[in-house]
Amino acid sequence: MALIVQKFGGTSVGTVERIEQVAEKVKRFRDGGDDIVVVVSAMSGETNRLIDLAKQISDQPVPRELDVMVSTGEQVTIALLAMALIKRGVPAVSYTGNQVRILTDSAHTKARILQIDAQRIQRDIKAGRVVVVAGFQGVDEKGNITTLGRGGSDTTGVALAAALKADECQIYTDVDGVYTTDPRVVAKAQRLDKITFEEMLEMASLGSKVLQIRAVEFAGKYSVPLRVLHSFQEGPGTLITLDEEESMEQPIISGIAFNRDEAKLTIRGVPDTPGVAFKILGPISAANVEVDMIVQNVAHDNTTDFTFTVHRNDYNNALQVLQSIANEMGAREVIGDTDIAKVSIVGVGMRSHAGVASRMFEALAKENINIQMISTSEIKVSVVIEEKYLELAVRALHTAFELDAPTAGNTAE
Ligand code: ADP
Ligand code: ASP
Ligand code: MG
Repeated sequence: MALIVQKFGGTSVGTVERIEQVAEKVKRFRDGGDDIVVVVSAMSGETNRLIDLAKQISDQPVPRELDVMVSTGEQVTIALLAMALIKRGVPAVSYTGNQVRILTDSAHTKARILQIDAQRIQRDIKAGRVVVVAGFQGVDEKGNITTLGRGGSDTTGVALAAALKADECQIYTDVDGVYTTDPRVVAKAQRLDKITFEEMLEMASLGSKVLQIRAVEFAGKYSVPLRVLHSFQEGPGTLITLDEEESMEQPIISGIAFNRDEAKLTIRGVPDTPGVAFKILGPISAANVEVDMIVQNVAHDNTTDFTFTVHRNDYNNALQVLQSIANEMGAREVIGDTDIAKVSIVGVGMRSHAGVASRMFEALAKENINIQMISTSEIKVSVVIEEKYLELAVRALHTAFELDAPTAGNTAE
């Protein structure tokens, strides 16, 4: 008899009918003898709807109050699922993050889980109940409701699996596993049987939103066996594994990730003196803006150009800060560009293969796609390109690295 944590995402609980289907599925596992803890998201679209409501009151809603509101989405689905289970004769009980006591820090809208009180859930499991827990939410030590950032129910699932020492955490969603790239963008994407934690972490942080980054971090840190599966289709899904050996035999590149959420800022004609990078990025970080990629050109005429990318939500803020820095430093001009996208190739196989980056650049050159910025690490190469070429770039790279499925088509809904 195994203890399994099953997380169902927004589309999987998007209607009452689907919630009934999820209840049937959970019942089947129970009837097979497993103990089940379920984590659910809000119905699809609900979190966005709630955020939109808040934005009608204020452009920048007070984070504490935003959390009080957006956490209600998950409170609805836990109760509905518990009702659907009870209707089927399965003893079940629902809990909010506060009721479990999923303790987080106080960073509203992006809180981190600090501790989970597993006792109450364990008592329910012993008493034969299925426990249904609200994803995405917790409570800080003062009793304020917090949320874990978009996609945070994945993290709730993995953190609960770690706290309960579950045998597996299963993430049920609207695709049947992790693919070589987003199957909604590339029809020839292929499902991976396995992917390492390290690769999955890169894929998630470079834009593949199939799993929240923190969920992957947590699973790696606490060695939680993690699997991504389709909610309503049978299949093995994708196992996220520590085992690198097997993946080494796979292609050099495991996947392609992309991200449309960044914007680029350039400050031109900055006097090229020691401390320039600090003078520019110090105030940016003081304004709470995180910087991703950075390029500084070689100086000529004793001046240099400095370019970096930030999240699009931070673009206006960063632009303002940069303009005042430019005035102070006597820089020539500040240029901003929001029509960019980042495309990344990811794979542990890169460690043992040379020439991966040049193969990437060649594939992009063949399509006449200009590369604006480049960054590399041991297992990834990222480039910034013009946004309108994003899909073309991803498809070209998918083909160049021999990731295309023999026949087109996939099981994405
Ligand atoms: P849920 O609501 O179940 O959490 P998400 O929308 O957060 O679902 O995540 C599933 C989606 O992730 C898929 O529908 C797919 O479009 C997207 N996705 C992006 N990259 C990948 C990838 N490499 N493999 C599978 N799905 C991906
Ligand atoms: N409902 C939240 C969101 O839409 C959390 C989640 O679905 O994981 O981001
Ligand atoms: Mg998700």
